[in-house]
Amino acid sequence: MNLTYELETAKTIARVAAGICQNIQQELVDPSQKDGREPVTIADYASQAIIGNALAENFPDDAVLSEERSEEFMLLLNDRQRALVQRFVTDAVGGYVFEEQVCAWLDFGKQKRAERTWIVDPIDGTKGFLAGRHYCVAIALMIGTEPVLGVLASPGLFCDEPEPPDDLGALTYAQRGSGAYREPLAGGWREPIQVSTVTDPREALLLTSFEAGHTDQNFLEQVSRALGRGPDAPQRGVDSQDKYALVASGMGDMYLRVVPDPRFQEKLWDHAAGYVIVTEAGGRMTDVAGRPIDWTAGTRMVNNRGVVVTNRYLHDVVLEAIALTGWAEG
Ligand code: AMP
Ligand code: MG
Repeated sequence: MNLTYELETAKTIARVAAGICQNIQQELVDPSQKDGREPVTIADYASQAIIGNALAENFPDDAVLSEERSEEFMLLLNDRQRALVQRFVTDAVGGYVFEEQVCAWLDFGKQKRAERTWIVDPIDGTKGFLAGRHYCVAIALMIGTEPVLGVLASPGLFCDEPEPPDDLGALTYAQRGSGAYREPLAGGWREPIQVSTVTDPREALLLTSFEAGHTDQNFLEQVSRALGRGPDAPQRGVDSQDKYALVASGMGDMYLRVVPDPRFQEKLWDHAAGYVIVTEAGGRMTDVAGRPIDWTAGTRMVNNRGVVVTNRYLHDVVLEAIALTGWAEG
């Protein structure tokens, strides 16, 4: 299957959307007048609208699963905020954009059923975006029952590296059967990426959500203990699907997630792009019971519990540890 055009289009849109997020962050997140939610809401909508615009122009027959909706855009944002979104979208597409058009792009492809479905998170890691940590724009394409293409535009992928490159951002992407790659976000040569070869779970770098409230801490503690990990075992909190990009490039060895609220079900757009990238880089992803992810259940991963992402060498031992703790059941 040749998806070169789809991949190049998704890379371009993700870059443009991430650029808008960075501009909004610089212009509107002013530490002296910090009103946390506002810039986020504006950036989420502006990013999704320009992604919707590009998908509508290039792939008019495809379906879309995306986080934001025009109904909420009209309800939750005041006139000034909606005008700001309109301004950022107008600047990005080059030509005056009416509010009705923003709404149509936000909703493009929703409620449609098609063989091909784009899965979009306009800003993954909203809390990281606000706090100046990790966040990314995530775009995946599912054909049939599985995501086959994934792109993550991460403005701060290297932000907490001890010796970061000049460009802190990265574009990480993969297409099924073609390997995984990374480029500087601002543009430049692509390099193939691969997972690490770490086999000892005691020395493996464990990535978790930065937000403690997004992961059940009992789960993490019990599994870490079952793996024989001591208090000094390497662990890092990272927002968003940047965790997938890091495992895919060997900058992390595993990512474990079970949310504290048993009623919360994982959303497809928080994992689909990362899944293609990490598996193409040689990694593995299942749920905590070792089941493959069911991508066909709608917007939520209702047939799975939690996620386990590893460099593949660690996968079986991690699943065994989870089974020992009892977290694989239920
Ligand atoms: P992460 O930075 O890995 O925690 O992932 C960010 C994603 O977590 C967001 O895009 C949300 O979809 C999701 N999320 C939001 N609230 C919660 C919550 N209370 N528990 C678990 N996940 C959440
Ligand atoms: Mg998200």
